[in-house]
Amino acid sequence: MINTSSILNDCKKTEFIINAIRNIGGPGVLPLHEPEFNGNEKKYIFECIESTFVSSVGKYVEEFESNISNFTKSKYVIAVNNGTSALHMSLLTANIKKNDEVLIPSLTFVATANSVTYCGAIPHFIDCNENSLSIDPIILKERLKEIVIKENGFSINKKTRRVIKAIIPVHIFGHPAEMEEIIKIAADYNLTIIEDAAESLGSYYQGKHTGTFGLLGAISFNGNKIITTGGGGVILTDNKDLAAKLKHITTTAKLKHPWNSVHDQIGYNYRMPNINAALGCAQLERINFFLSKKRKLYDLYKKKFHDQNWLKLLKEQDKSKSNYWLQTIILNKPDRKLLNNILSHSNSEGVVTRPVWKLISELEPYKNCPKSELDNSMSLENRIINIPSGVNLVK
Ligand SMILES: *Cc1c(COP(=O)(O)O)cnc(C)c1O
Repeated sequence: MINTSSILNDCKKTEFIINAIRNIGGPGVLPLHEPEFNGNEKKYIFECIESTFVSSVGKYVEEFESNISNFTKSKYVIAVNNGTSALHMSLLTANIKKNDEVLIPSLTFVATANSVTYCGAIPHFIDCNENSLSIDPIILKERLKEIVIKENGFSINKKTRRVIKAIIPVHIFGHPAEMEEIIKIAADYNLTIIEDAAESLGSYYQGKHTGTFGLLGAISFNGNKIITTGGGGVILTDNKDLAAKLKHITTTAKLKHPWNSVHDQIGYNYRMPNINAALGCAQLERINFFLSKKRKLYDLYKKKFHDQNWLKLLKEQDKSKSNYWLQTIILNKPDRKLLNNILSHSNSEGVVTRPVWKLISELEPYKNCPKSELDNSMSLENRIINIPSGVNLVK
């Protein structure tokens, strides 16, 4: 028998959400996120083309690195061709090797896990919590207490006999992970911290930019992130030696010489092209404008949703300042039926909404990897909806 009252209820809730978003964004298609190019983008790209330096050589790449360094206060910045490469190269220079285990959340974009796999290492999934959507420090601590034996300073997974070498906190949707607690636990277990700050340019934790807490941090400038270079990423680090290594291996490990082409190890052709960096320089000039629009949009949504007892809007935590990259509704209870109702109606009406990624621990290539209990992640998978977040929604 069909429960008509619950269907009616779902329809009302769906209508409420769509109306609230329409009220802010107006008619027409409301994208989840779109880049905005109303600054010097065309000017710099034109200059770049005029100069003929559109590829791996040119002034914009260094300028972009230096501007990101000023903005994040990271001592060194290495620009690469995308955020996934930034993660991959970070793990490689952090000495992550075949059969090492790396702790990552299961609720994240697949690139976090793939970068671990590219190094021959194995992701080990840790549950998140619903405050930050990132790795839950309490669950992390309990998991490590349960499975680790310490040998010669290494943390060994008792069950797999592999070294647990690193942890990748991810600042989901721009909301900082609980770094203070994670840093303490990582120190206890001798884990290297590499931050996946792909989504969190302009987000801070205790006043410090995300991606600058770990040994290395990776940021993405894909077209859907808060600023874009078309495709691109940077690696942040305060370690001079690692920075030099990263510059070397991301530019095919070519030895500096005016004409000879000699490579002293297996390198990668991962350098950010100059034309992408030109776009990035123009975009970065506008970051504070984007950040203020994102925050305003959160305030507008907050006004619409605050008195609904069946959902909440994800908000920044006490120690955090979020860039509010993607606005996020969280249903109070897991309800795939309601979620699907909202997704199908809003999308068919041009109000673009998305569920969160399917948990990586449930994807075919990763389903046999070690993992903690993932109750929160499994619940959140059926509760999260990202709603239109573009800066153009705020007039
Ligand atoms: C976007 C993203 C990446 C990868 O960045 P690309 O530039 O798309 O390669 C990695 N991790 C997270 C969490 C992301 O959102």
